[in-house]
Amino acid sequence: MKLRKVTAAAAAALVLSLTATACGGDDSSNESDSGSSGGSSIKIGIKYDQPGLGLKEPNGDFSGFDVDVATYVAKELGYEPDQIEFVETKSADRENALARGDVKFIAATYSITPERQEKVDFAGPYLLAHQDLLVKADSDITEATDLNDKKLCSVTGSTSAQNVKDDFAPDAQLKENGTYSECIAALQSGAVDALTTDDSILAGFAAQEQYQGQFKLAGLKLSNENYGIGVKKGDTATVDKINAALEKMESDGAWDKAVKDNFGPANYKNEPAPKIGDIVS
Ligand code: GLU
Repeated sequence: MKLRKVTAAAAAALVLSLTATACGGDDSSNESDSGSSGGSSIKIGIKYDQPGLGLKEPNGDFSGFDVDVATYVAKELGYEPDQIEFVETKSADRENALARGDVKFIAATYSITPERQEKVDFAGPYLLAHQDLLVKADSDITEATDLNDKKLCSVTGSTSAQNVKDDFAPDAQLKENGTYSECIAALQSGAVDALTTDDSILAGFAAQEQYQGQFKLAGLKLSNENYGIGVKKGDTATVDKINAALEKMESDGAWDKAVKDNFGPANYKNEPAPKIGDIVS
């Protein structure tokens, strides 16, 4: 009898969860919140603490290459800049933010990887970066092999942290934080010996006025990071529209301008614009 009761409860729970799943799959009621063509606003995920890529300025303005790409793409989807609501999507939160429908798309130094493609869809790529190391100006770390037994900082949920464990410095003492700005603080204080992530991000930090002369990039191309624009899994209509927008951005010169405006001050030597669909492995 007891068993039957449990079974009935389990069956009821299953029905509830199936109903919830069905509702979640057909979420057209959420569309105007996260942004659909012709809606009143669009929510876009970016980083808030990565100078030159995605930064929330002290006065509340947003700047960076990802912000410019996102603003261009939003315009092509039918949204003016004042209809954009930027939302912070930290590295470890991106897949969930898309699955929940918190944002319509994410432009946040978001590398296209086979593991992530199981959970989200990507438009792009729109930039090719490479994993590198940032160390103190007087550090003698020059190679990935110098990292073993050293304290290394990176961010939870990033390809950078994963590559350290899988690949090039399995014996480093990896300290994972939620954001890169926390790693910069740890590097500055001497709590860690190096920070690893994409060279584009590291160059942006190193060029900040308050860090001038303090840090140097090792100049290693430890991986290929193909930045894509993440969308909810299955939203192929949005992927197609974003790909068309990215192609237009490259052909009308807006991509080059965004590169100069945002990477010029950091003296970051970017790779040429990638071809849509061409992922460098
Ligand atoms: N591009 C890498 C990634 O998607 C590192 C930068 C980041 O954490 O956003 O994980």
